Amino acid sequence: MQRAPRPPRRSTTPTSDSFQSTESLPGTPTTPNHPKPLYLCSPFVEAALVKGNFKHIVAQPKYADVMEWVAVNILDFYQNLNQFYGVLAECCTQQSCPTMTAGPTLNYTWINQDRKSVQLPAPTYIDYVMTWVQNQLDDENEFPTKSGRDFPQNFPSRAKHIYRQLLRVFAHLYHAHYPQILHLRSEPHFNSLFAHFLAFGKEYDLLDVKDIKGQQGAAVGIGALWERWKEMGILEA
Ligand SMILES: [Zn+2]
Repeated sequence: MQRAPRPPRRSTTPTSDSFQSTESLPGTPTTPNHPKPLYLCSPFVEAALVKGNFKHIVAQPKYADVMEWVAVNILDFYQNLNQFYGVLAECCTQQSCPTMTAGPTLNYTWINQDRKSVQLPAPTYIDYVMTWVQNQLDDENEFPTKSGRDFPQNFPSRAKHIYRQLLRVFAHLYHAHYPQILHLRSEPHFNSLFAHFLAFGKEYDLLDVKDIKGQQGAAVGIGALWERWKEMGILEA
């Protein structure tokens, strides 16, 4: 399930405000009447490889350093998500996804080198994010793997920044490509990966509620899934 090698293009390093979400359509009503997405419908919303609550899975092992534990898990989430995206990439094209959608009225925009907020096709946007994350994971100064090397002081904020970008990739895949995930019969695996990601992110303070749910008029589709999973006891309320 390896994704095709990415072209060696580099984006400008996204800063925290490089990923502002905007309402895509100025005339969009604030309470649009959209059909319920499939991922919120039974039986898909319950589909999972892991049954029960994720609380124990995300618990820090007794002798592990917390930063090491966060780093290892981020690497794991990134690799799993990258594999899913590799499979779904043929459906996520400039034509099918001319913008980085994540909800009926939500498009993430990219801040380019001139500090202008621009719409990018989702595959380009995701490629920028994944390349940027990969480069950090490969950097021994940022993600030390050798014993005796300390994590940089800004590791918590960097980890949080990475986490927020990966959340956006999940948000796009759920919003735009869930039918393909169902077609591949991957929804139990994908749901469990995402529920694990959310549980871990909440436990280690890597996620803000506003990033999961979005804002009024620009709600993130997966915000409703997060709420549903809390009601179902899959995630901590
Ligand atoms: Zn797409």
